[in-house]
Amino acid sequence: MMPAGSDSAISAPAASCGLLAGQTRGPRRHALASRLLWTTIALMHVLAPPCAAQTSQAEALQATKPPAAAGWTAEVKHRPLPSAKPRATAIRISGDATRTRIRMEVDRPIAADMLTLDEPYRAIIDVPDLEFQLPAYGANVMTGLVKDFRYGRFDAGRSRVVIDLAAPATIQNSAFTPPKGNQPGVLSFDIVRITASDFQALRGQPLRGTAEPAAAPPPQQFRVGRHEAGPAGQPSNSLAQSGAPPISSAPRPKTRPVVLIDPGHGGIDPGTVGAGGITEKSVTLAVAKEVRALLQQGRRLDVYLTRDADNFVTLDQRVHLSRQYQADLFVSIHADNLAEKELANSIKGATVYTLSDRASDEKARRVAEKENAADIAAGLAAVPASAEEQVRNILLDLVERETANYSLGFRNLLLSSMRGRVPLAKDPQRSAAFKVLKQDEVPAVLIELGYMSNAEDLARLGKADGQRQLATSIAAAITTFFAHKEAQAKR
Ligand SMILES: [Zn+2]
Repeated sequence: MMPAGSDSAISAPAASCGLLAGQTRGPRRHALASRLLWTTIALMHVLAPPCAAQTSQAEALQATKPPAAAGWTAEVKHRPLPSAKPRATAIRISGDATRTRIRMEVDRPIAADMLTLDEPYRAIIDVPDLEFQLPAYGANVMTGLVKDFRYGRFDAGRSRVVIDLAAPATIQNSAFTPPKGNQPGVLSFDIVRITASDFQALRGQPLRGTAEPAAAPPPQQFRVGRHEAGPAGQPSNSLAQSGAPPISSAPRPKTRPVVLIDPGHGGIDPGTVGAGGITEKSVTLAVAKEVRALLQQGRRLDVYLTRDADNFVTLDQRVHLSRQYQADLFVSIHADNLAEKELANSIKGATVYTLSDRASDEKARRVAEKENAADIAAGLAAVPASAEEQVRNILLDLVERETANYSLGFRNLLLSSMRGRVPLAKDPQRSAAFKVLKQDEVPAVLIELGYMSNAEDLARLGKADGQRQLATSIAAAITTFFAHKEAQAKR
């Protein structure tokens, strides 16, 4: 299970206590949050009686003892209070491989859209933007038809739970039981195994057998979806909403070369999750932001990111942004992972990929397959085969184009810039059919910064110094690439 939402979130006492609303994300702000919390609790002590107990079923956060001050000495437990967003506090899975019941505890009534997808079989639950405060789930909670699940932000105002299913299935008995007293509300439904042919027969039809008990919120608040065959559940088309900076549809007059940095994954799709819960999506975003900051100091390039927050952006949207921005260089940033544990110690270092119809080797093919599955992880429908076919044709044209040469040129610059600064993999120049690199006019590379499965690499990827080292080598190569181009143009 991969928690794809905020990595660590606590909620501060909220507006109902009249003092402080909001939430704080991420370990770096943790200390600050504790201090704020203490300040708030101390103020509450002076100004008002404590709010009515609203003990969360999520882990209670023990606030650290503040410095001795103003006669305040008691130990106080953090009690999350209602936040601006509905909060999910637990997901419970029970049952067997024929019928598996899912119960998601939420602190207030929410709407839900549900659908099922194949290739691979998944159940998708779309809900309003939720604050996920779920305990860390181990593999042991994966029960019955649930192989894995992930949750997190999908697009503006929408969160998503994606359940990877062990077999074709349908959803039945969906309902929402509102919160009552100390009991949280529960969004519940059954995942029921059906045959593959029944799944095909049900395509496009509403999910059946859903119950609407009296306790459920009004019908307009609770929707059930369908067995879906088409490209359903796509995130909002608005790129601005996807977390990318807003762009106008009219071509902008370009005054400087444009670099588009593409931090891999985001939102519902965490990418690889390394030891200690470090997510690929957070590493790629941190490095991308650092690259942008370094390049902006030079003032010679316009630098954009495909996302600059923890948002999900589809692979197509990333490529689309490259066109919209009229990018002169596209740099996608990822981190690799090795499933074979016995090799985790020995396989490490960065790799730079360029686009190729045929992968340079089997490893490269597998990496492209994994990165190309990002949309699937986020619960998007599989790309129809015909679209894949079209892509292949573009690729054949592409190899003959100038763009491919520029991509190779940049890859070489990048590798020589990285060499000596950061460890490289044994065979660091590879190629494969990455979807985000399929851009016929924009030189594009994909960097795997290192292996999250390797302790040494992970230590670099997870820390600010290591991220800075990586970003410095990338920014230096980008600067050299455009300096060469400029020099060539003057000749
Ligand atoms: Zn990745």
